[in-house]
Amino acid sequence: MPSTPSAADDSPITLIGAGLAGTLLAILLARRGHRVRVYERLPDQRREVIPAGRSINLALAARGIAALERADVMQQILPLLIPMPGRLLHLPDGAQNFLPYGQHDHEVIYSVSRPGLNRLLLDAAEAVGVELHFRQRSVDVDLRAQRLLMRDESNGNSWELPLHRVIAADGAGSPLRGALAHGLESRVREDWLEHSYKELTLPADTFGNHRLHKNALHIWPRGGFMLIALPNIDGSFTVTLFLPRQGPESFATLQDEPGINAFFQRHFPDAALLMPQLAREFLEHPTGSMATVRSERWSHQDRLLLIGDAAHAITPFHGQGMNCAFEDCSELDTLLQQHSNWDEAFAAFDRTRHPHTDAIATMALENYEEMRDSVRHPKFQLQKTLSLQLELRFPDRFVPRYSMVMFHDSIPYALAYERGRIQQEILDLLTRKVTTLDQIDFDLAAQLIQQRLEPIAGT
Ligand code: FAD
Repeated sequence: MPSTPSAADDSPITLIGAGLAGTLLAILLARRGHRVRVYERLPDQRREVIPAGRSINLALAARGIAALERADVMQQILPLLIPMPGRLLHLPDGAQNFLPYGQHDHEVIYSVSRPGLNRLLLDAAEAVGVELHFRQRSVDVDLRAQRLLMRDESNGNSWELPLHRVIAADGAGSPLRGALAHGLESRVREDWLEHSYKELTLPADTFGNHRLHKNALHIWPRGGFMLIALPNIDGSFTVTLFLPRQGPESFATLQDEPGINAFFQRHFPDAALLMPQLAREFLEHPTGSMATVRSERWSHQDRLLLIGDAAHAITPFHGQGMNCAFEDCSELDTLLQQHSNWDEAFAAFDRTRHPHTDAIATMALENYEEMRDSVRHPKFQLQKTLSLQLELRFPDRFVPRYSMVMFHDSIPYALAYERGRIQQEILDLLTRKVTTLDQIDFDLAAQLIQQRLEPIAGT
């Protein structure tokens, strides 16, 4: 019978990066009896204030929750969560339109603070015996000499670690990804989006209450760009502007306070009214870039494995980067139980996970178009309503793609993508000549669904 590799042999597992995936994986491995040490380039964020840098809050969904439950930390995280059962659209004429994400009570996503979640995972890792080392940066890998080159950020000294059972969870900018690709002569592709983002604050009112509807993900879709807002537990919202880098309406043209205020007055007057520090924050806060990273190889023998954003960073438009990174941790944990040695488990992860991370990368990009543009159109809204209706009528065969990704952790991403493609063809056919739900030919719908969609196991 296969056994968990090397739990008996006491050589430690080295994790690089104490971000979201690094800490969760450390907990899972330590709970299986492994010795785990984690090296993080930043100081300990539980003791020093570190600017969140990016995405101050995140949307947590089923895949992430399943992994957190597996690590037995979900109960502690519950107080950090704000349920968001749908999108609240803010249209240019001031009208608001709430579009639910799902149709069952449990079909909600949750806004969660990145630093809050990360600190909690650090505490939980320490509680199960994980060694945490801060201000230690990985710099390079020498596959031939089997060494990992590190730098102590507190004094600038370089030092080395043996390259043995090293798991790199050092995020989208991972230096180890490039070093691995170089050593294995494999390909890495980074596709940078022509749009960037800026995070701003919509503060709480004087009583600490939310000034917009608390339980929603707010979107101001404007075609070529958009503003979104996610609630925080202190009553504020984190507002993010996604906008082209260059062009007539772009970050390049927003260089001074009058220009920034005029832009917001033109496109988002209702939000601007609630953001007194808008122009100052806009000038002070960094502008973030977004890329999809596809690496041909994530592993080398039992020596090195990349996970999370280090392996496959994606754009944030499906709210799945962290969820996918957490799912990586669950998958690896399962593979370590199924394979009797580390190189088999690393290789199996590398082999089996690629189709799924490729699929979510594509769906994330498609969702940008949906959020900033399609969501405004009557045809899109009709198709969304119809999808929910078809799910009610054919629950084992038709599950809206958004729901498969966000609420069904047992449906792998690649399957969600493939079924979503077929479902979209069915929706396009059914709505080609109609504008309302009561004009839909449900007999044809039944026929198409029976013909083209196999039942999904476990729905
Ligand atoms: P990270 O969380 O980036 O952690 C990497 C860690 O490694 C960090 O602690 C870093 O300091 C450390 N590190 C980096 N380099 C080194 C080094 N050389 N040596 C040692 N340590 C190092 N995902 C969602 O699921 N839902 C969302 O709503 C969502 N919204 C997002 C919004 C934006 C604007 C962005 C940019 C991303 C969003 N994401 C979202 C994606 C999510 O942030 C990432 O997918 C997630 O953080 C990946 O986790 P990770 O542990 O792989 O990387």
